[in-house]
Amino acid sequence: MSYSDSNKLLESESALSKAARNIAIGGLSIALAFAALPWLQLARYGIHLESMPVPATLALPIADLKRGKMIDTWHAARAQHRHHEGIDLFASKGTPIVATTEGFVLWRGQDKLGGNVVWVFGPGGQQHYYAHLDQFADVHTGDRVHAGMLLGYVGNTGNASTTPPHLHYGVYGDAGAINPYPLLAMTPG
Ligand SMILES: [Zn+2]
Repeated sequence: MSYSDSNKLLESESALSKAARNIAIGGLSIALAFAALPWLQLARYGIHLESMPVPATLALPIADLKRGKMIDTWHAARAQHRHHEGIDLFASKGTPIVATTEGFVLWRGQDKLGGNVVWVFGPGGQQHYYAHLDQFADVHTGDRVHAGMLLGYVGNTGNASTTPPHLHYGVYGDAGAINPYPLLAMTPG
């Protein structure tokens, strides 16, 4: 092998390793982009939700809820000078609870008052609070939801442990809690 031949071989080898490195870097950035994609999409969806008007009606969170079981308990007095910032929908333990709007799950977890809770970020930037769930459905923080999608099941977890099973449902806007009752009552059916 002549000097120039071996030199060419070295050059082509380095070109080859450069190409391999570029492919590896390219592959890595594609992998990273794919990993970030759900969060980017969620951020974009969040911005879209924020730009939507607040809903004038809400789907019922308990599908076959009897009208009579829906009592407007908004701002009823509660212990420690608290006011009831939501409504209680009584149903037997295990009754399916569905999302009242589209949106995404801000947080699914446990808190002292609410027990098993799901927070959904919805249209107009409103936050929907579903509390005292007995069990969660297969929904997790960051999941996109649509109106009517199963979130969990009625229970009496948290500070509802001494009360009959019910869903505590609250809606929070920019100015704080709003009364969801008239929005639900307007839903046909
Ligand atoms: Zn309540």
